[in-house]
Amino acid sequence: MAQDVLVIGELAGGSLAATTKELLGLATRLAEGGMVGVTLAGTGAQVASAEAFEHGATRAFASDDAAYDVFRSDQWVAAAEAALDLAAPAVVLIAQTMVGRDLGPRLAFRHGTAAAMDCLRVEQTADGLRVTRPAYGGNALATYSFATSPAVVTVRAKSQEALNLRAGATGEVVALPSASPSRTEVVSRDAAASDGLQLQDAPIVVCGGRGLGDPEGFRLVEALADALGRDRAAVGSSRAACDLGWYPPSKQVGLTGKVVTPDLYIAIGVSGASQHMAGCSGAKNIVAINRDREANIFKAARFGIVGDYKVMLPALIEAIKALAK
Ligand SMILES: Cc1cc2nc3c(=O)[nH]c(=O)nc-3n(C[C@H](O)[C@H](O)[C@H](O)COP(=O)(O)OP(=O)(O)OC[C@H]3O[C@@H](n4cnc5c(N)ncnc54)[C@H](O)[C@@H]3O)c2cc1C
Repeated sequence: MAQDVLVIGELAGGSLAATTKELLGLATRLAEGGMVGVTLAGTGAQVASAEAFEHGATRAFASDDAAYDVFRSDQWVAAAEAALDLAAPAVVLIAQTMVGRDLGPRLAFRHGTAAAMDCLRVEQTADGLRVTRPAYGGNALATYSFATSPAVVTVRAKSQEALNLRAGATGEVVALPSASPSRTEVVSRDAAASDGLQLQDAPIVVCGGRGLGDPEGFRLVEALADALGRDRAAVGSSRAACDLGWYPPSKQVGLTGKVVTPDLYIAIGVSGASQHMAGCSGAKNIVAINRDREANIFKAARFGIVGDYKVMLPALIEAIKALAK
């Protein structure tokens, strides 16, 4: 049955963020011919509207006001509410980003409805919308339905497929109000040093844990990433290793770190605590190297190597290099 779906969009450098493209794909599937709306706020919003139409949107609620460029929840909530009032959607989709974590519960509360956060699957069934999200730190999956409307759903990055580009597709642009004065003042912004491929974008993540024994162990982990190719392999760390100061906190994978969904996740000296698995259980293939055959990580691993990483890694690196020749 057709229904109207609204995506709270985000811009990256004036273009449509990758997560917004993924949500437009999902929204198109859920709408079944209904409206696929998208809010776009900040510099470049009008131009990005055209991009949004090519990714499935039929209506864009846009404001080029630069005051939206920095996320301030009071301004963004007002913009999202303006679009909600105009569109009256049955479903609101937001990416599980910093914006979504903040905006989802606020929007739901204001509309007397529920928010399901960090969903991996969102599907329309005969009984209504069903969403699936990790529970108990990623050890279980919980399925929810909604008793109220609109259903507010935040969705994990890379869990949905964007549509194939519909070149030249057009839609209706509706003006969003300019940003109202904010109660929040952003006093400074520090950009995290971005050294090439980001963890969340990498098709291969090689992750080191406390089992490396010392920070030097990460040189071997990095050598493995080098052998696999730094254009596709990024290095991550468990929280225990970050807490010890062995690797930067920005590289932490897990519940309180980054959530990654690579094709291949290689965990080295990582025990596989539930809080760590919350960040990598979406990987298509997990390979574990651990000297404890009882380690929890092996329960999730497709392939496991039981042994000392100091012996295993050099051999693996040599084998990969030989294959590349
Ligand atoms: C609220 C909360 C949030 C948390 N968030 C996160 C999070 O975001 N990310 C995260 O990672 N953790 C998180 N944790 C911590 C988590 O519970 C674990 O403590 C942590 O993941 C353990 O890290 P580890 O696997 O590197 O270390 P350990 O648990 O110490 O495991 C080390 C592993 O290395 C193996 N090993 C030892 N020597 C070798 C060797 N020479 N060769 C091969 N294997 C070897 C051992 O057998 C062991 O399995 C959180 C905890 C809490 C309470």
